[in-house]
Amino acid sequence: MEIRIGIGYDIHRLVPGREFFLGGVKIPYPAGLLGHSDGDALLHAVCDALLGALSLGDIGEHFPDSDPRYKGISSAELLAKVYALVRKHGFAVYNLDAIVIAEEPKLSPFKEKMQEGIASLLGIKSSMVSVKAKTNEGMGEVGRKEAVAAHAVALLRKEE
Ligand code: MG
Repeated sequence: MEIRIGIGYDIHRLVPGREFFLGGVKIPYPAGLLGHSDGDALLHAVCDALLGALSLGDIGEHFPDSDPRYKGISSAELLAKVYALVRKHGFAVYNLDAIVIAEEPKLSPFKEKMQEGIASLLGIKSSMVSVKAKTNEGMGEVGRKEAVAAHAVALLRKEE
């Protein structure tokens, strides 16, 4: 069995007056993630993990922030495009593990919905998707609630 592993990381500024999307879930909060797309740092980290596993570059190369087609685009749509590319190369996600680092809001009530949404976009069982949430213990830009960061690791297998 041919397998590949990929890692992804992203960080976005948290700014007042924007809708807050994380892991494809809209979270009620007075601030949201700044970005050319909806700013979903978790889904961007997942995209980069998938692209990285197949050495297909990174999300910024595929969806440049200078391209008006991607302005305000849902990151779920970006992930669907990335996964279509992965499938075109004959691979599928086996499992995915991710960490979101945010001082606020509390993400535990939304983790299951994120896992289910990501799993459904990838056509795998939600037990194969793990989303973990932590704070930055008040340190740095994440700790000051100025940003939200995410890491993801994906294992891909070549389909027979
Ligand atoms: Mg990003």
